[in-house]
Amino acid sequence: MLPCGKKECKFETCSLDTFCIYGFFKSRKWDFNHHIVPPISSSIAFRLESTKRGYKGFEEFSEAKQYRPIYIYDRLGEPTRCILEENLAHLERGEVAVSFSSGMAAVSSCILALTSYGDEIISHNTIYGCTYSLMTNWLPRFGLHTKFIDLTVPENLKNNITNNTKIVYFETPSNPLLQIIDIKGIVNITKQKSKNRKIYVVVDNTFATPLCQRPREFGADFVIHSLSKNICGFGTDLGGVIISTKKFWKDLLLVRKDFGGVLSSKSAWSILVYGLSSLPTRIKRQQETALEVAKFLENHNKVEKVLYPGLSSFPQYELAKKQMRSPQGEFAPGILIYFLLKATPQSTRKFLNTIARKSYSMTLAVSLGQVRTLIESPYLMTHATLSKKEKETMGIDKNGIRLSIGLEDSRDIIYDLELAFKTI
Ligand SMILES: *Cc1c(COP(=O)(O)O)cnc(C)c1O
Repeated sequence: MLPCGKKECKFETCSLDTFCIYGFFKSRKWDFNHHIVPPISSSIAFRLESTKRGYKGFEEFSEAKQYRPIYIYDRLGEPTRCILEENLAHLERGEVAVSFSSGMAAVSSCILALTSYGDEIISHNTIYGCTYSLMTNWLPRFGLHTKFIDLTVPENLKNNITNNTKIVYFETPSNPLLQIIDIKGIVNITKQKSKNRKIYVVVDNTFATPLCQRPREFGADFVIHSLSKNICGFGTDLGGVIISTKKFWKDLLLVRKDFGGVLSSKSAWSILVYGLSSLPTRIKRQQETALEVAKFLENHNKVEKVLYPGLSSFPQYELAKKQMRSPQGEFAPGILIYFLLKATPQSTRKFLNTIARKSYSMTLAVSLGQVRTLIESPYLMTHATLSKKEKETMGIDKNGIRLSIGLEDSRDIIYDLELAFKTI
């Protein structure tokens, strides 16, 4: 049946103006099941062949019964995005995934879906800058308070959980100091303390990716990613995702529908087609290079300290080896390095500026997890808006440098680093 109610297509007789809108209306050119690469779907609203289908679609959406979804409106659900979500749920050992327009949309939506006025969050004391700003500048306005404590010692939770605690939140490895938080240790203590009401463990797994660590295997309730980083991998598309169980699907879908941080289908397509398919190969190669670069830095006389979970000198090496594993069971310490220069803050800036101006294989920029090696100063850049005191308690030093290793030949990265060392 056609929208005009007629049985037959009038394309022969209608004006070309109308034809431009409807075309042949029903195309035989869409043969979805036989694609190798999924097509980009880009439709804000979907044709409903009857009011019955429309009603059923809304009903199923509100009950989160969407095995074979009836698509209605992009903000509720959309095919390309749903395919990406299915794959991400499987990778992170969850039952469902709900994607968002950015990592921050995923972080804020997860917290909003789980809390109400008066609830408390306990967070590790070093977290992504905007997550910290969300928790300190915005959430208190809605009666949500966050206590920042050192979660590298899980026992610290014991005295801090109260009857109002709803979420325990952290990143591991943390940003930028790459501290490892014992997911299982946190989950166990949280379980003991969840007597009258459930306390949720939420892990931002952006740094590690499911190729290096799957927090749900250790009992975490929610996993969040900024898809903009390692998973997209090419630095072309922003995105975020929350992975959990069916029980929370409805609330996560409703939060996304009403707060509106929807991932565009075009971005979902790039992340699905280019990002996911190349992720395992990228991570493996970037990790090998990261170890070589970390060893080079460790042996350099102008370097005070190198933090890379893959180095045996790493303070939490044993925990990293236990927790950070590839799906095949190999040690997977990730692609990020943090190091301190033996220098004055002035020469640290000189070092970075030499790289910015002279280096071919490294780029001075924020963000991480791209095919290009990115270098930055957390003190001056990603964590610049924190107060002096906050930086001090977090251990963010003026001479600290964060390095996100890309796909270049390790010899070129080392060459460019050596060039910058020579100037200080
Ligand atoms: C980048 C990042 C985010 C935020 O992601 P966007 O996609 O930039 O909104 C959150 N957490 C971590 C650990 C990140 O690195």
